[in-house]
Amino acid sequence: MPWRDADRAARTRSWVLLAVIIAAAALLAVITYRTTFKLDALRASATFEVTLGLADEKVDRIDRAIVESDDAVVQLGEPSHADDVPRRWRALGARQTPTVSQVVVLDGSEAREIVAFASRVPAPADESFRALLLRRILPDLEIGTLPLAQIKHLHKAYDGAFFLLTYWRAIEALPDGRQAERLVLVRHDLDAIARELLPQVVPDPGSPGPTSRVNVVDDEGHVVFGPPLNKSDLLVAVRFPTTLYAWRLQVAPSSGDELTIQARRRRLGEMALLALSCVVILTGLVVILLANSQERKLHALRADFVANVSHELKTPLSLVRMFGELLMTGRVASDEKRAQYLQIIVRESERLTALIENVLDFARVERGKVAYDFVPGDLAGVVGRAVEACRYRAETEGMRLEVEVPEELPEVVMDERALQLVVINLVENALKYAPGTDVVRVVVAHPPHGRGEDVVTIAVLDRGPGIPAEDRERIFERFYRGKSARGSTVRGSGIGLALVAHIAGAHGGDVEARAGEGGKGAAFVVTLPVFGPKRRRGE
Ligand code: ADP
Repeated sequence: MPWRDADRAARTRSWVLLAVIIAAAALLAVITYRTTFKLDALRASATFEVTLGLADEKVDRIDRAIVESDDAVVQLGEPSHADDVPRRWRALGARQTPTVSQVVVLDGSEAREIVAFASRVPAPADESFRALLLRRILPDLEIGTLPLAQIKHLHKAYDGAFFLLTYWRAIEALPDGRQAERLVLVRHDLDAIARELLPQVVPDPGSPGPTSRVNVVDDEGHVVFGPPLNKSDLLVAVRFPTTLYAWRLQVAPSSGDELTIQARRRRLGEMALLALSCVVILTGLVVILLANSQERKLHALRADFVANVSHELKTPLSLVRMFGELLMTGRVASDEKRAQYLQIIVRESERLTALIENVLDFARVERGKVAYDFVPGDLAGVVGRAVEACRYRAETEGMRLEVEVPEELPEVVMDERALQLVVINLVENALKYAPGTDVVRVVVAHPPHGRGEDVVTIAVLDRGPGIPAEDRERIFERFYRGKSARGSTVRGSGIGLALVAHIAGAHGGDVEARAGEGGKGAAFVVTLPVFGPKRRRGE
């Protein structure tokens, strides 16, 4: 069966193609998805680098400014006169040490007494600072391990308020020739740092300008300086390296939020586009595959159709030939037999003609070129001739054909040849699908029971297996063969009933499949409209 093989190969090709295209679409989706995320990550990391650079630079500047103040104080002290440092610092003025608010010299012995104290603006608060210093701050200083003259910082909150202290050890030569150890302590005014220093480094921290927004937060994230910042992906936080080490400087690219939103929007857009293209590809594929399978089905139907039609034509043709050859030999005993053989030849050729007409008419219907010749005709004659054409076949099958036509019939406008084809098709089907039963009845009626007088019906009734309910509508479709027919050896092309329905429709009537008499077998009822008054048969 090379056709079947080719069909299977075509189907395999379609599935392989489908799999390849789906795999390609999936690959495309994955690559696009990953590229989108990689690009976003690159963009984010570039922004991060720039922001980090900016943050480092600012932190450095603030740190340096504080350390410069420290240095200015350190330079005031001569090793032999540490006690004098506070006084000299007061004399120095605020310009060189703008962030310093108090300078204290402590006794280096275990007693830790304040030896000298100076405040930029003396105030009662100095007392509480001194007390805090002795009670709570001193134990926090790392004096024991601190080498002489090395500067150290303490940045810590006491009772909710932050302190920044710079301290170093010094040795003082006493008048009596002994040496005393001293601890010099410089307190930086954090309010002044926030008020004066930070604004110098970060001129407009909250401005959504082209650069960035900056703030300073403490360990717990409370804002010390600047505006609150959203915890966006692009926020960069840097700790102060030496001085204000309990705080962090945070920088958010001013367009950070916008960038995040844009990136999210772009990603969404790209994903939507990706999904859309996948849907388009898959829909296209499904459409192509459906069309393909439809095409293959039609192809298979056509192949079956040709095989079945040829087979149906062969049967009457071989009968005509057989009886023709018998007559030719001249060995047929009686005239009666000869007449019978001739009759068979005529009937079978009529059946053959009907079969060929079936195919030709069907082809014409398909091309939309069918033309019927409607004239008032003799319905009883048409039915009679059609039944006669099937009689030999019925006899060989051991079945009787019964015809019932009323004495009086109204005038029906019809194409006689087409209507004859209708009856032949229905009777042939009854013979084909009800084998082993004894009779097929053709009943013409007017008025049919329970219906108006304006129609006549031709019913073909058999006592076979009947038509399953699920097939009743579909059997009138072209090429459709019933479930039982498909599974059996009964040959057929699936065009007979389609043609019957078309011809009935062209006459303004219809055809219906029902259960047969007494609920058994099949009944095909063709209904035709009546156009003229009743006429007696033969008139
Ligand atoms: P086919 O060439 O298959 O006979 P038809 O169009 O004449 O094509 O009939 C379509 C289908 O209707 C048949 O395949 C068969 O299943 C069903 N059918 C037609 N006539 C009868 C009947 N008298 N009894 C049972 N089934 C029938």
